Amino acid sequence: MTKAEAKKTARTGIPYDAGKIREDFPIFKAHVNHKPLIYLDNAATTQKPQAVLDAMTRFYTQECASIHRGVHYMSERATESYEAAREKVRRFIHACSVQEIVFVRGTTEGINLVAHAYGRAHVRRGDEILISAMEHHSNIVPWQILCKEKGARLRVAPMNSKGALLLEEYARLLGPKTRLVAITYISNALGTVNPLREIIRLAHERNVPVLVDGAQAIPHMPVDVQELDCDFLAFSGHKMYGPTGIGILYGKERLLEAMPPYQGGGDMIRSVTFEKTTYSKLPHKFEAGTPNVAGGIGLGAAVDYVESIGLAAISAYERELMAYATTALKTIEDLRFIGTAKDKASVLSFVLKGIHPHDIGTVLDEDGIAIRTGHHCAQPVMDFFGIPATARASLGLYNTREDIDALVRGLRKAREVVLDHYKKPRNLRKIEHATRQAEGFNPLCGDRLVIYIKARNGVIEDIAFAGSGCAISTASASMMTESLKGKTEAEAEALFESFHQLVTNPAASQSGPESLGTLAVFAGLRGYPVRVKCAILAWHTMLAALRGSRETVATE
Ligand code: PMP
Repeated sequence: MTKAEAKKTARTGIPYDAGKIREDFPIFKAHVNHKPLIYLDNAATTQKPQAVLDAMTRFYTQECASIHRGVHYMSERATESYEAAREKVRRFIHACSVQEIVFVRGTTEGINLVAHAYGRAHVRRGDEILISAMEHHSNIVPWQILCKEKGARLRVAPMNSKGALLLEEYARLLGPKTRLVAITYISNALGTVNPLREIIRLAHERNVPVLVDGAQAIPHMPVDVQELDCDFLAFSGHKMYGPTGIGILYGKERLLEAMPPYQGGGDMIRSVTFEKTTYSKLPHKFEAGTPNVAGGIGLGAAVDYVESIGLAAISAYERELMAYATTALKTIEDLRFIGTAKDKASVLSFVLKGIHPHDIGTVLDEDGIAIRTGHHCAQPVMDFFGIPATARASLGLYNTREDIDALVRGLRKAREVVLDHYKKPRNLRKIEHATRQAEGFNPLCGDRLVIYIKARNGVIEDIAFAGSGCAISTASASMMTESLKGKTEAEAEALFESFHQLVTNPAASQSGPESLGTLAVFAGLRGYPVRVKCAILAWHTMLAALRGSRETVATE
């Protein structure tokens, strides 16, 4: 679809209203930890509008059948719906024909298909495949497998410290041995938008075809394969408001035609004898077996849905929201963006000094805010920036400024509560004449601490801890010692029980007689057993000390 077409399909004249759009998504009626869901993990997967759910339910309730092969009514209807979805996708990315639209499971399978079918046919010993330094694992590993098999070489076009591709370096790496360029349009870990037209032009000057990983671009900006002149484009339905388990590989007809099949089986053949098989025409040659019919139909509905709003409108809105979010996050002390290229879309990756991204994620979850933390399947990107992980907020068409405000509030809270106790732990000292003491150890992460208690007549007069641990375990020990001082031993045991319930029991609320106060921030750890062990270490050790245990407590 050209930009002009994208504009035409938009709800022209209707101002963009994310609040209204949100109403199309049933999941936003859900609550997380008794708070409305704020979903900022769209780069991982997007939520689904009712229209997509309805289309899939319609298939399963009114026209469920195997496609292409049946002569009966249901099969005819299912085939029509599935093939209509293919045509919708064709129109959406402006491919020349439906022969160029192959249904696959997702971006990963689309790339593997090309690596396998195109790569096996065209790559020889000593040849080169060129990727970029910001690729998702799914645009690295298939090429590594191919290169290993063929004795070919994987070359990597570098990026600068902002996470922008070094175009001259890329051009320099394009050589007579380059057989294919495989590159992402938008980086899922950094948000960088690559200058794709230029990248493709430079490759084509040397007769090198280009595969585009469109996973992060498709939901956020109009993508016109003819305008771009890309040779292959892979993307996933679930990242563009469609179902999981369905995606698209676009390929120029001439290239797909010349490629051998990827998988063999039913539906991809014209005739089979024990001696010889002839294959179906495109695109069925690449679609062996009973396909994900409901998924395809759901993807078609997602295309309709996105087009009803208009990608040009979505893109403009999200860019404005991105600018708002960038400015808002900059106000948070010690926050460092990872990925600051000039052209960025939908992804805000960052680290907070001294606080592990997982800790950020779990504290935000307590407020119903979903972000992603980790390496985002882009470990080489993390290595490049010398960090193990980032926290990543990623935008979708239904996000609002209020979501960003909530994120900023959540991050401040994470900093204030956890980091404050981590950086300035209360009661981090040894008590010389402790009446009880115990040692605790978390073998999973190596955290080790000792709890000292000075109790008289059943009252904890003083409590302190020593040792080293992650932000969560140190903050938990700090806050625990603060809240237990002056309490009776029985009260301490009751508080242990409440805290244990808080972090382990999904049904627990913290409004009982033993209110946990600021300790409630740890409720966000529920469902993350590894992190729960960090938070609970001090508590188990405290209980062991109270009960006079001499054994080292291990949180296993
Ligand atoms: N490439 C990019 C840039 C991605 O963000 C993702 C998903 N995170 C993929 C490829 C893989 O997509 P899928 O898991 O849907 O196959």
